[in-house]
Amino acid sequence: MEFAEFASRAEEIADESGDLATTDRVRDLLCDASDALPIVVRFLQGRVYPAWDATTLDVGPALLHEAIARAAGPNVDSDDVESKLAEIGEIGAVAATYEFGGQRGLGAFGGGASGGTDGESGALTVAEVDDRLREIAATMGEGSEGRRLDILFGLFNRASPAEATFLARLVLGEMRIGVGEGTVRDAIAAAFLRERVADAEPEYDEGPVDAADADAVDAVERALQVSNDYGMVARVARDEGSEGLDAVGLEVGRPVQAMLAQAGSATEAIEDWGEAVVETKFDGARVQVHFDGEETALFSRNMDDVTDPLPEVVEFVESAVDVPVVLDGEVVAVADDGSPLPFQEVLRRFRRKYDVERMREEVRVELRAFDCLHADGDDLLDAPLSERHDRLRALLGDTDAVSEPVVTEEPDEIAAVDARALETGHEGIMLKDPESTYAPGKRGRNWLKRKPDVETLDLVVTGAEWGEGRRANLLGTFLLSARVDGESAGRDAVADSDAYATIGKVATGITDEELESLTERLEPHVEREDGQIVSIAPEVVFEVGYEEIQASPTYESGYALRFPRYVTVREDKSPADADGLARVERLADEQ
Ligand code: ATP
Repeated sequence: MEFAEFASRAEEIADESGDLATTDRVRDLLCDASDALPIVVRFLQGRVYPAWDATTLDVGPALLHEAIARAAGPNVDSDDVESKLAEIGEIGAVAATYEFGGQRGLGAFGGGASGGTDGESGALTVAEVDDRLREIAATMGEGSEGRRLDILFGLFNRASPAEATFLARLVLGEMRIGVGEGTVRDAIAAAFLRERVADAEPEYDEGPVDAADADAVDAVERALQVSNDYGMVARVARDEGSEGLDAVGLEVGRPVQAMLAQAGSATEAIEDWGEAVVETKFDGARVQVHFDGEETALFSRNMDDVTDPLPEVVEFVESAVDVPVVLDGEVVAVADDGSPLPFQEVLRRFRRKYDVERMREEVRVELRAFDCLHADGDDLLDAPLSERHDRLRALLGDTDAVSEPVVTEEPDEIAAVDARALETGHEGIMLKDPESTYAPGKRGRNWLKRKPDVETLDLVVTGAEWGEGRRANLLGTFLLSARVDGESAGRDAVADSDAYATIGKVATGITDEELESLTERLEPHVEREDGQIVSIAPEVVFEVGYEEIQASPTYESGYALRFPRYVTVREDKSPADADGLARVERLADEQ
């Protein structure tokens, strides 16, 4: 598929206002994508690599602006691009204002490792754009910045305005065409898992996904939750249908979405299951351990690779097991006497790339494994929890690194485990159905969390205000938003996650030191400034405490927080994992 075709279809998709009509258009694009299908699916989501792969292009705005300027000709420089950006507000639209192509004679620039621009004239294809962008990602070491610039220049130099729009957005990882994960999932199901009436006119007012398609959507969703690879799942759906999707299994080294818990009580657990597995709820950060027999990779809950920041965990795994495994667990920080430290101590590690060794001396972290998804060639996602626990214990033995599940049908015994957990400084307990399988990405009723803490909310920062006087160069008051739960949220689906509604501002509970690091963290995401007030792209999630949720006309959500208090940055959550309005509403009702 030519990149121009992709760009023009992406424009049509962006112009479509209805959800169902958008899904129809995405479906049609997938049907027409032929060999480029996996790439088209990723590009639609602004990705070059699958969601589980942490590889980045490492192209910042400055480099992108320079590449655009260079391709736009000798009369344009980065300053021009940047002043246009200040005026227009979005780099894709800025890129579309230039005439590219005048630099074709400059053969030394723009080629890939496969050779200069020679032989690279003519229309850009989707595959070629993908190849070049991957080449950019693979370019490292001395002189790599110049090399990345050359490759980008080469792409823009051959781009039409529409192509340049999407090329620029793709490089920055944001397509802005209103296509969320749920739309892509539904479109894959509609495209490949039901008979298409070849010559029927598309009917944009009737959606493709009706109740009868729910099984198809579920099949796609399960494969996505296990693999986190939309491109591969689309290809399998097209080439092998539902059976192929059912066979998409776990792969050591490729993270699956974490199974999640709902809040619940011991009474509910025993009523529903008869017997309950009771485990300590460790107060740390979720980690998925993949050991392929030689190397270990660790992934956080939102599938970032956290192997480097956690060398102790890697060392532990490699000393404890010698067969391939996938384990699910929590990384906890422990004091010298072995007692647990607050989970913020672990999260501090996740963002430290460079001084891991020093951090390691300051904070000791350890693994607490509570599930086993793969052991020595056996996939265990569909095995009951009791069996997965047996395998876990067989692998790791009787150590602190394994949670000690108690199986009981007595509420008093559950209360005793709970009291012990709290006494020893843990967060509370988890209750699990011993017969349940591992359901990736699901927040079902098979895992219940019971913790006595007052609830907190995980909210997305969407704005801030510059401080005054001594704090004039620090962002101070932060505007918080809840996720607007997508249509699909109710069905445990991968919710479309690009809409947020404001719910309040937080300014208390933040030390000067924290203000500095928060400013550093948020400033790159500032989208607009109006005097002291800035709007910020949804990237960072704050955990906040509060005394009460009130109905309020002041904010978009219709709610406001009373006495909001900053707790921490949830480094382990992306905006898509932040709390949605449904939870806010429920908490407000429960007060
Ligand atoms: P919270 O902020 O309450 O931890 P969450 O949204 O991060 O909530 P939940 O699914 O609500 O995640 O709670 C389960 C989390 O508790 C898991 O993601 C995991 O990180 C942690 N956890 C600690 N101990 C256990 C355990 N024994 N079994 C399962 N999860 C555990």
